[in-house]
Amino acid sequence: MHAPGTPSPARPSGSGTEGGGRHHVVVVGSGFGGLFTTRALARDPRVKVTMIASTGHHLFQPLLYQVATGILSEGEVAPATRDVLRRQRNARVLLGTVTEVDLARREVVSTSPAGTTTTSYDSLVVAAGAGQSYFGNDHFARYAPGMKSIDDALELRGRIFGAFELAELATDPDVRRRLLTFVVVGAGPTGVEMAGQIAELAHRALRGNFRHIDPRESRIVLVDGAPAILGAFSERLSRAAARQLERLGVEIQLGRLVTGVDAEGVDLRDTDGVTTRIETQTKVWAAGVAASPLGAQLAEQSGASTDRAGRVRVEPDCTLPGHPEVFVIGDMMALDDLPGVAQVAMQAGVHAASRIRRRLDGQDHGEPFRFQDKGSMATVSRFHAVADVRGLELSGFPAWVMWLAVHVFYLIGFKNRVTTLLHWAVSFVGRGRSERTATLQQVRARQALAALEEQPAASPGAAGGDDPVPGTSGSRLDDLTSPAGRPRSDAPRQST
Ligand SMILES: Cc1cc2nc3c(=O)[nH]c(=O)nc-3n(C[C@H](O)[C@H](O)[C@H](O)COP(=O)(O)OP(=O)(O)OC[C@H]3O[C@@H](n4cnc5c(N)ncnc54)[C@H](O)[C@@H]3O)c2cc1C
Repeated sequence: MHAPGTPSPARPSGSGTEGGGRHHVVVVGSGFGGLFTTRALARDPRVKVTMIASTGHHLFQPLLYQVATGILSEGEVAPATRDVLRRQRNARVLLGTVTEVDLARREVVSTSPAGTTTTSYDSLVVAAGAGQSYFGNDHFARYAPGMKSIDDALELRGRIFGAFELAELATDPDVRRRLLTFVVVGAGPTGVEMAGQIAELAHRALRGNFRHIDPRESRIVLVDGAPAILGAFSERLSRAAARQLERLGVEIQLGRLVTGVDAEGVDLRDTDGVTTRIETQTKVWAAGVAASPLGAQLAEQSGASTDRAGRVRVEPDCTLPGHPEVFVIGDMMALDDLPGVAQVAMQAGVHAASRIRRRLDGQDHGEPFRFQDKGSMATVSRFHAVADVRGLELSGFPAWVMWLAVHVFYLIGFKNRVTTLLHWAVSFVGRGRSERTATLQQVRARQALAALEEQPAASPGAAGGDDPVPGTSGSRLDDLTSPAGRPRSDAPRQST
């Protein structure tokens, strides 16, 4: 293995077998960073790009909450990557989870149900993003799914709509109250968006759908340890968003830390040490991120350090120390306190591609990455958002129109833009939520995974074959909201 921090042996560009004489760029991840890197190399005939990603789609994470609340379908926010790149002849897409990067040998090892693949590179761009962090309480995940993947969004969709279904059946008022209580942990943009949409669902979209319950009796609680919501925005915008949430009926509890999460509730502790409990069936975790574990591996090999979220402290040009051929970008990179947002990932991807091209031109002078901040925005409800565009602060309808335009612009694919606009018309002008389906198969798979997680030392046959997995044979309605396990981190999240 190569000594940390020392340059890996230089190899003539294109000398690897994979590039077929061309400079072979391996891109890890099909998110914003990976996709923008790959596209920015489209017109360079000297380059061959291999994108390796553990999902077959490009995920537009900013709209995941709309999948979870029945506004959009998963296909609208997650088009197939190979379809997005179908016209880019110098790019190919491989399904696989990268488990190992060998900086000295310039090789990447990935696994998929088809087996293990080793891919050599001339340049490597690692954009494997970040996952949810439960701040050392990973067991919370079972009861409070995060919002990072299509799996997460569909899981939450099943739980949210399932809770209303079960409340309709419940005869015990306490059980009904618990089922109609929704707690969102984390008051950043994702938490605010989720709380706002669940409130709109309860107070507006589901009107007339039930005979025994009134969804408007739902209690939606947004919890955060911080003293204000949307901490990255100014006080004025934070207050405007809070007012709008309260108008929608969202209860905001600030200065409260979550100390426990179980099947039927959430335990909280405030700054004075006073503890309280909220009885709730449906919990959403929208607090904390942890960079892909690949970051720690790359840091160890290169001598780079990582920050608290596991992001790699890269050189000013987004490369690893001693490895000008390896870029770490997007949510995995720690550089100049840049936030983990889509714009940073996209621009860093374009920067990495430009550096690779300049190197091939013999004109690479290690130019630093310069982020152009185009502003930030968060939507609170239909027709209401907050936006900070280079110091210009907007809230309410004008900010929402801006939010809408930006999201339609960055959504990938013409068809997706059209169908998304139609769905928004149905949900925001009308009241419909057309994407409410949760399948029994999803529920069974979730329970099987939960059972597997509970049996770490289980016999090899426990996962299938003749050995029934506990809890998977039922088709009861309460399956819809029962505590779920999350996919094991080493299992492929989705196959094409
Ligand atoms: C719910 C939510 C809402 C958000 N809203 C906004 C917003 O409104 N505005 C904004 O600017 N930003 C928003 N963000 C942040 C933004 O989405 C991220 O900053 C951005 O996606 C980061 O891009 P990335 O390429 O670094 O990682 P990602 O987009 O997360 O992509 C990571 C890719 O790597 C793949 N991958 C992961 N591990 C491996 C592995 N070991 N091997 C192979 N492939 C792997 C994944 O499958 C994925 O394709 C939001 C994020 C979330 C979760």
